[in-house]
Amino acid sequence: MAKKISILLPVFNEAKNVSAITHAVQNIFSNQPDYDFEILFVDDGSNDNTLEEIILLTNQFPNIFYISFSRNFGKDNALLAGFRHCKGDAVITMDADLQHPPEIILQLIQHWENGYEIVYCYRENKNIHRGPISVFFSYLFYKIMNQLSDVKLENGISDFRLMNSKVINTLVNLPEDHPFFRGLVKWIGYKQLGIPYTPNSRNAGDSSYKMKTLLKLATHGITSFSTKPLNIAIYLGFFFSILSVLYIPYAIISKLMGYAVSGWASVIVTIAFFGGINLMILGVVGVYLGKTFMQGKHRPQYIISETNMQSKL
Ligand code: UDP
Ligand code: MG
Repeated sequence: MAKKISILLPVFNEAKNVSAITHAVQNIFSNQPDYDFEILFVDDGSNDNTLEEIILLTNQFPNIFYISFSRNFGKDNALLAGFRHCKGDAVITMDADLQHPPEIILQLIQHWENGYEIVYCYRENKNIHRGPISVFFSYLFYKIMNQLSDVKLENGISDFRLMNSKVINTLVNLPEDHPFFRGLVKWIGYKQLGIPYTPNSRNAGDSSYKMKTLLKLATHGITSFSTKPLNIAIYLGFFFSILSVLYIPYAIISKLMGYAVSGWASVIVTIAFFGGINLMILGVVGVYLGKTFMQGKHRPQYIISETNMQSKL
């Protein structure tokens, strides 16, 4: 029996791309009789006519499925919903804007056939199609993430990957409230292989990630995998307490020598400096506390408003 491959595509305002990516994927599988494939679109609360476009496709082809969220819940939650519903022996997740070259699908499958359970892609030519600011912040994110957490992420690691059904099963059973799959997939282990790829430029529309969203995503990624920022707060606290003790002999000696302890400016600078450090540390503690608070609510990770498929759970 032919093996089944699920192509999982999270989409947010991709009306102009859903048909193009569908045809690109169909093209890839057209001369692969050994494989059956299904395409699963997870419409992450698009507010253009993405869903209408997808429904048109489902009317034409029997192997196209969709899940539509009641609002935008973010790409990782869209992926999670897809994992819970897709039926393939292997699942390939990719962006719907054709930035992830569909030709690579066959390479991913080949490595899977050779025994790898997870095959992920990382951007090789990272400067293509991206401005210098984006390149810099992306570099900074991976640098900080790798310094602080136990999982090591390649610079430019993407959500373009293949996972077998065992891995998918593991992922859907993780009780993580707000998954960050780029890190989680690395964290779960199994036989993994990373392969480099060069992204295409976006087919149509704009990237939905603005600087603010990326910053939020980066903070989330880092704080999901490490409590080291909390330890850093303790070390900083110790360091400055010790440093401030040095002020005492300085003040006494200046007094004895008859110098006036230099006044207002140094006091103000010190207060502002330590005020800043205090607030920063409080903020770091707050981020972790906020996460516990949100997890404690046990809200669903997404709400499905309509679909043309049954859950496998
Ligand atoms: N996406 C999503 N939900 C979101 C934002 C993006 O499902 O809230 C999808 C989007 O439709 C695309 C993929 O995630 O298929 C990558 O998004 P995008 O191309 O905007 O990101 P970039 O390529 O700039 O990283
Ligand atoms: Mg993109």
